[in-house]
Amino acid sequence: MDYNSALDASLQRLHDEGRYRTFIDIAREQGQFPHAVWTKPDGTQKDITVWCGNDYLGMGQHPEVLAAMHAALDATGAGSGGTRNISGTTVWHKRLEAELADLHRKEAALVFTSAYIANDATLSTLRLLFPGLIIYSDALNHASMIEGVRRGGGEKRIFRHNDVAHLRELLAKDDPAAPKLIAFESIYSMDGDFGPIKEICDLAQEFNALTYLDEVHAVGMYGPRGAGVAERDGQMHRVDIINGTLAKAYGVFGGYIAASVRMVDAVRSYAPGFIFTTSLPPAVAAGAAASVRFLKGEGGLRLRERHQTQARILKMRLKALGMPIIDHGSHIVPVHVGNPVHCKMLSDMLLENHGIYVQPINFPTVPRGTERLRFTPSPVHGTGEIETLVRAMDELWAHCALNRAEQVA
Ligand code: PLP
Repeated sequence: MDYNSALDASLQRLHDEGRYRTFIDIAREQGQFPHAVWTKPDGTQKDITVWCGNDYLGMGQHPEVLAAMHAALDATGAGSGGTRNISGTTVWHKRLEAELADLHRKEAALVFTSAYIANDATLSTLRLLFPGLIIYSDALNHASMIEGVRRGGGEKRIFRHNDVAHLRELLAKDDPAAPKLIAFESIYSMDGDFGPIKEICDLAQEFNALTYLDEVHAVGMYGPRGAGVAERDGQMHRVDIINGTLAKAYGVFGGYIAASVRMVDAVRSYAPGFIFTTSLPPAVAAGAAASVRFLKGEGGLRLRERHQTQARILKMRLKALGMPIIDHGSHIVPVHVGNPVHCKMLSDMLLENHGIYVQPINFPTVPRGTERLRFTPSPVHGTGEIETLVRAMDELWAHCALNRAEQVA
C-alpha cells in the first residue's frame, strides 16, 4: 500500500468537489465580541466580525462566567486530574450537575466532555441497558446521534425529517412489546427548524417508547429559564432524556444529559465514553455552572429577547433584498447558495473584502445542492454590524450574479 498516495487521493477528492475545508486562524477579543483578529497565512492581521459562531449569546465573555472560571482556576489549578471515577469528580462537577438537573426539572444530570460525546455515549449505551431496543431516529439528526445509534448496533428505524405520520407508521409495524426510543432534536441547526416535540411525545406515550431530545441549539436561548424549546412548549416533563451543550449559548465547553436518577446512574455506570476519559477541568465546570445560573434569571430573559430581535431584524433585512433565506422562526439565519464553489467564493470575499467571517456550509454537513452561508446573529451583534453585513451581501450577490429568490421555506 502506498499510504501517502492514498491520503493524497482522499484529499484530492475533496478539492475536486470544492468542499476541502480550511481553518482560519482567529483570536476573539474578550470584551469586544463579535470582533476578532484574523491572522492570514502570510502572517498579516485583519480585524473581522464573526458571523458564524455558536456562542449565540456572547456568554463566552460574560463577567460572571469569567469570574467563576478565574476563581476556580486560582482555587484548584488547571486540570481535574482524573476520570470521574478516579479522582476527577470535584465539587465543581457536582455543582454543575445540580444546576443542570434543576434547569431541566429532572432528578439528575451527567456531564460529559462534549454534547457529541454525550449523544454518542448515551445512545450507544442504551442498547446495553435495554436489550432489543429499537431506536427511531429523525433523518436529519446530528452526526453524534447517528454515530451513537450506529455504534450501539441493534435495530434502528429512520423516520423522514419531522414526519410524525411516518414515525407512527414505523412504530406501529414493530412488536408492541419491544423496548423503543425516539431520538430527535428541538432545533435542527442547519435549517433552523423546530422538531415537533409535543406530537412525538404523544406518540411515545401511545407506543410506550422513551424519548431522547437533543436541545443543543436551544439551551440557554428558549424557555423562561433557558432550558430549551421543550420548556418553552410545556413539554419538558414528558421528555425522558434531554441532551445539551455547555459550549454554544452557555459559551464555555462540555455537554450533558438530564434524566431520572436511575437513568443517569445506569449511563454513568456503563458508558465507556463517560467512564474512560478525564473529566472537565474544574474551571470549565465552574464557568459553565455560572453561565447556566445567569441565563436562568432576569439577565437571561433580556439576552434571549435581544437575541430573537437581532435574528428577526437580520432576516427582515436580507428578505427585503430578495435573498433566499431559510426562515423557520428560530435564531439561525441560513442563506441558500446551492453550490459549494459559489459558497466558498462568497465566504472568501466577505472575509477578504468586508472583514465578515461566515464559514461556507457544505456536504456532508448539509445535502449536496443545499450549500449555504449560515449566519448566527447574537445580542452582541449591534445595528452597525448588521448594516455592514447587509450591504456586503447586497453588493456580493449582485457581483456574483446570483439569483434573488423567494425565501426557501
Ligand atoms: N448535537 C447537535 C445537534 C449539534 O449541532 C452539535 C454540535 O454542533 C452537537 C450535538 C455537539 O455539541 P458539542 O459541540 O458540545 O460537542
